[in-house]
Amino acid sequence: MNDKIIELLNRLVAIPSVTADRAANQKALDFIEQSCHPAIIRKRIHEDDMASLLIALDDTLDFDILVLAHVDVVPAPPQMFEMRQDGDKLIGRGTADMKGPICACLSVLNELAAAGARKKIGMLIVTDEETGGKITPHWIDRMGLTTRLLLDADSGSDINAVTEKSKWLWQLKLTARGAPAHGAYPWLSTDAIELLTAANAKLRALFPIYSKSNVPDDKWVSTAHIGFIEGGEAVNSIAAAASATWDFRLTGRDDIARVQAVLDELPADVTYETIGTADAVIADRTHPMFQKYHDLIAEKTGKPVTLRVTGGATDARYFVPMGALVIPHQPTGDDVHSDTEWLSISALETYADILREFLK
Ligand SMILES: [Zn+2]
Repeated sequence: MNDKIIELLNRLVAIPSVTADRAANQKALDFIEQSCHPAIIRKRIHEDDMASLLIALDDTLDFDILVLAHVDVVPAPPQMFEMRQDGDKLIGRGTADMKGPICACLSVLNELAAAGARKKIGMLIVTDEETGGKITPHWIDRMGLTTRLLLDADSGSDINAVTEKSKWLWQLKLTARGAPAHGAYPWLSTDAIELLTAANAKLRALFPIYSKSNVPDDKWVSTAHIGFIEGGEAVNSIAAAASATWDFRLTGRDDIARVQAVLDELPADVTYETIGTADAVIADRTHPMFQKYHDLIAEKTGKPVTLRVTGGATDARYFVPMGALVIPHQPTGDDVHSDTEWLSISALETYADILREFLK
């Protein structure tokens, strides 16, 4: 069984489905479709040239369990598209993120289909995750896709860890407008950089500054940083405009309200626009399906399960408003987005064992 998954993975890694290469992504979906058992229902849609594939044991868009996956990868040197093995490691672009989990799930769905299972279980494979993910909301909002439980294999890097909570994301751009004047006569103008600096200080004061010398014990804390600051035209000119982009990772709605309260009090010359948001994904530990999955990890690995938190956002967030239980978990691997990306063979096998037992 293991060999079958690795053979699938070897062939899928060889298709260089970098997000921008739409033809290669089509080929990757073609390969997955052709690798399906004949009893598996396949649906494909295109949205803005972005292809996607839904495979399922039953002809439905209303699932009990859905696996969310993406077959696109980030760029890599050519040799990374030839998977190689080094001990327990499979090295290649997309092995961990996330063609390995796709092949494990495909293999398990094929087994279930071969055994005649007609369950509301499926896998949605998109091709635009690495650039923001527009296809998944299309499936939900326009096609009516729903699920009660979502397995997200695009989070974490340890077979013994489940990402229990991810933070709210709020990215916004502050813009201050002043009036230009010679730097020698500041009383003749309004200084956009001064306005921006004062606004930044109010936002900055909301949350601690974390760094290598200030690491929180509990990582479930709200964080904030400025990604860009721009402004000014010349060293001897008062700036007419200045802007800063903020990136907040928030642990609760009360912290969202604290940011909003500062924004509401900004002077008229300082405006803001939201440039990105994502809902938090928080698993219900007491949910029987969460406990079942949790206990299966412990049983199949023989080790206790670590519950983690993350500041990063995943496409799983789109399933939060429908009330789906989200379980983020994947086989052990690392160095994703780098030239040494790898996936553990033994963890991939264990991951398939967990899915096989959970989905049966
Ligand atoms: Zn990914």
